[in-house]
Amino acid sequence: MTDDSRQAAKAAAQERHHRARRGVRHAWPVPLIAKVEPITTARALRGPFDYLRPEGVGVGSVLVVPFGHRDVVGVVVALAEASELPEERLAAPRRVLDHDLPPELVELAGWMASEYCSTPARALSLVSPPPGARAKLTWWANATSARAEGRPPTQRQRELLAQLPRAAGSDLPALRRLEARGLVMLERRPTRRRVRHEAVGARRAQPPSLTGDQTRVLAQIEAELHAPAPQPLLLHGVTGSGKTEVYLRAAATALEQQRGVIILVPEIALTPQIVSRFVDRFGDTVAVLHSKLSAGERHDEWTRLRSGAARVCVGPRSAVFAPIERLGLIVLDEEHDSSYKHEGDPRYDARHVAARRAEQAGALLVAGSATPRPESVHALRRLWLPARVDGRPLPPVQIVDMREQSGALHPDTSHALVDAAKAIVLLNRRGWSNFVDCRSCGHAWTCPQCDVALVLHRAQATLACHHCGHREQVPARCSECGSMSVARHGAGTERLEHDLAQIGHEVFRLDADVRDAGLLLRRFEQARRGILLGTQMVAKGHDFPDVTLGVVVDADGTLRFPDFRAEERTFALVAQLAGRAGRGPGGGRVLVQTLAPEAASIAAAARHDADGFLAGELGRREALRYPPFSHLIRIVCSAPAAQAVGEAARAIRTALGDIPGATVLGPAPLFRLRGRERAQLVIKGSERARSVRAAGAAITTVSGDRARRGVAFSVDVDPQ
Ligand code: ADP
Ligand code: ZN
Ligand code: ZN
Repeated sequence: MTDDSRQAAKAAAQERHHRARRGVRHAWPVPLIAKVEPITTARALRGPFDYLRPEGVGVGSVLVVPFGHRDVVGVVVALAEASELPEERLAAPRRVLDHDLPPELVELAGWMASEYCSTPARALSLVSPPPGARAKLTWWANATSARAEGRPPTQRQRELLAQLPRAAGSDLPALRRLEARGLVMLERRPTRRRVRHEAVGARRAQPPSLTGDQTRVLAQIEAELHAPAPQPLLLHGVTGSGKTEVYLRAAATALEQQRGVIILVPEIALTPQIVSRFVDRFGDTVAVLHSKLSAGERHDEWTRLRSGAARVCVGPRSAVFAPIERLGLIVLDEEHDSSYKHEGDPRYDARHVAARRAEQAGALLVAGSATPRPESVHALRRLWLPARVDGRPLPPVQIVDMREQSGALHPDTSHALVDAAKAIVLLNRRGWSNFVDCRSCGHAWTCPQCDVALVLHRAQATLACHHCGHREQVPARCSECGSMSVARHGAGTERLEHDLAQIGHEVFRLDADVRDAGLLLRRFEQARRGILLGTQMVAKGHDFPDVTLGVVVDADGTLRFPDFRAEERTFALVAQLAGRAGRGPGGGRVLVQTLAPEAASIAAAARHDADGFLAGELGRREALRYPPFSHLIRIVCSAPAAQAVGEAARAIRTALGDIPGATVLGPAPLFRLRGRERAQLVIKGSERARSVRAAGAAITTVSGDRARRGVAFSVDVDPQ
């Protein structure tokens, strides 16, 4: 075969494959009906609906269809040869949109809808192409074969002609004049809106040669990549053990196999380093999908992935829906991170969806972390990177007992901060002080919408609710008794920033009040001295070699939450922060201030004892029947009036009935949020599918009852 005919045969085979996957069949009869799921948020609507199938439309096609009295966008979820409706009642779609979805994503959305007790339409809207934007067209100039007649072209015009073909840019008027003379042909061409990547950290000309440990785990990953049905893996490696380099090599292998790669990261703004490392290594075949992109950039990146022009997608949780076909590898970096859980409906967990997608595509899932979740340790085969790449030990961690102290910082901590050139300080509380009350009558300022204390933000002179965003002016006097004496309790990052400034180093504060986290991190990276202070955002994956001191203020703050994951979170926070210190030749150390020096999670983190912590935690979870030894489903009912909520919650309890292998806890009241009273029920079951079905059925029954109008229901499978 010549190269050309081989190319043509390959293209034809690909086309056949593509058509077959989309359900477009060749054999007669051709499916006449497209089953379309309109993308609407209404829970009551039960699609899909039948439409006449336009030529070329298959599963995954995106259409505009007449629906009731309006036109809506819908996705084709199946084809059929006949409809139950009489032919004259079948409508034709108005338009077929340019973008379509890979059929695997349509299937994945269907699975998500039932797995998370949501609707197919809501799940489809998550996997659908970004709405609104179009390809950007710009003028492009080509030379024609015509010869100049009459007046000879000027010097400038000859220069322009010599540059063709090229984008017209600002020379469009001049090129138009040449077009009028027949010397140039102008056309509109799609132009890619390039995403600019920040260069972060040191660039390497060459990939480093792997350490023995990296070589060993990479071999195990590659063996799995070559297996017909790859089993998911957990890459458990201490901070700085070179996990990212392992991901890069695994991605290269998948690309050599002509397969696509998804790299999921917690938050792009906080971890720009990993994006730039992938772009440096693989160039243009990397696309990024995240919320900071403009609509146009998003559109173009999505299109590059859909067309196969880009084969690697790096992004936060929603990148698990990247439209990549022939997927070979999904990496979940920092798999313990809470940002993988989506808080809108469907409340999906990208880690669970990634596992499903990998299985569906026959791809390998690699979840990586220095502090993996007990669930992952229990479920996945573990590969272990025990040491930092540079052979440096993990920094010594000293527990600082705060029980006898006033003030936010222990004197030892203050001294250490004076001596350290660069330090990271973690305090997981925003604002100045965490609640405000009246010294005379005890009146406490709470949110009018939510039953929680308001937090003082001194720089803006406001009291703010961290749940709903409500803000009010700092009171001059007590609204109850008129006293001018207002007490502030506790310290947040804003207050600590003020205290740390006394030490004399520049303080870089990173918390949700900061607009441009990336810029702040770059400024800290470039500074010679300074303190990076912030909430858990400062503990995420940063690699600053010159940080010699890490401080956790109030390490047991996270332990005080009434949540079975409190221990796990506390361990991860301390261990992750410890991982940021002592990455360079200067070495480093970590101070952990706490009121609970004996707490198991804090003591284990101080010993760098992940295995000990995980073993203890898994034992505790098994005894109490918590995940991974059960599955939790949380149902929340909310409405403006408490009575309606109580009735609805009891109705749900009744509708749930007895679920074999499961216990139902509640209904129990929750604090009022955004002006809505709330109550919750928790199903704790051994069989996930059974509990999910029971929850879904109960919601359908109760929400369909007219007596429950005004009550909203939300279902959270695997609440975090
Ligand atoms: P982790 O993700 O496990 O915390 P990183 O992948 O960020 O660790 O690696 C830490 C540092 O070590 C990075 O600066 C990285 O470039 C470097 N590194 C990784 N592997 C090697 C290697 N084999 N040789 C030298 N340096 C390496
Ligand atoms: Zn008062
Ligand atoms: Zn509020």
